[in-house]
Amino acid sequence: MAIVLAAAGVVAQTQPRKLKVHISVDMEGIAGVVTGEQLGPTGFEYGRFREFMTREAVAAVTAAKAAGATEIIVADAHGNGQNLLIEQFPTDVRIIRSWPRRLGMVAGIDEQVDAAIFIGYHAGTNNTTGVRAHTFSSANLTRVALNGVNVTEGSWNAAIAGHYNVPVVMMSGDDAAIAEVRKAVGNMEAAETKRTLGFHSANTITPQAATELIAQKVRAGLGRLSEFKPLKVSGPVVVEVTFKNYMPAEVLAYLPLFERTDAHSIRFQARDMAEASMIMNFIGEYRPDITP
Ligand SMILES: [Zn+2]
Repeated sequence: MAIVLAAAGVVAQTQPRKLKVHISVDMEGIAGVVTGEQLGPTGFEYGRFREFMTREAVAAVTAAKAAGATEIIVADAHGNGQNLLIEQFPTDVRIIRSWPRRLGMVAGIDEQVDAAIFIGYHAGTNNTTGVRAHTFSSANLTRVALNGVNVTEGSWNAAIAGHYNVPVVMMSGDDAAIAEVRKAVGNMEAAETKRTLGFHSANTITPQAATELIAQKVRAGLGRLSEFKPLKVSGPVVVEVTFKNYMPAEVLAYLPLFERTDAHSIRFQARDMAEASMIMNFIGEYRPDITP
């Protein structure tokens, strides 16, 4: 009997505990990124920097596995959504690419996910210091607020994760971006890849140093997973959006869903963060000439 119990105990111990991790990867917060030259296919440094972005993401994946992750999903969440060099990831990782997608930068997250990680994130559009600070679209939006509070992509995505009961355990980016997300979610682990000196300047660590720091902070975050609480925004949620231009606010207000609050702004109410995310993605994606 004692032997049987011991054997059962061994089985229980070696049974892997499920730990599904979602990693959303943006690019502005990657070590060394300071201008558009690193951020898109027409920039002279883009080819090298998508390699660095990939290495930071792979460092997070490898560290998550070392910390016990049994399943990992990575979302390419920058620009065209086709930046990560997917052949550099372990074969058991799934990768979400391109747009549009209903949950935007955190597509792939659901109740099965146990922890969320943000890599390469940047500060929000109302931040006076963050490198390349913007919220969703630097070209079109000057403010997005959730229940009256200005959001960053990090705090917005944390609220979507929270809708599915998933806490954010770690993020990487510049010091301004980290401070903003910490204000929303609490004291998660963070890898500071650079100190902001302005919108287009920073004092950065090297790509190699960034991968080492990210690995260390991912292990730390998953190591104290039970301490983190999902960011819960109680529904219905009120979202305010301010556009650079007049026309989006004017035309959206034709629909009863949207209330025009000033020349550049609209407000809408959504049942919960999942619905709010779909409406925001609609606002960003819809044009009558979208193809195919
Ligand atoms: Zn980006």
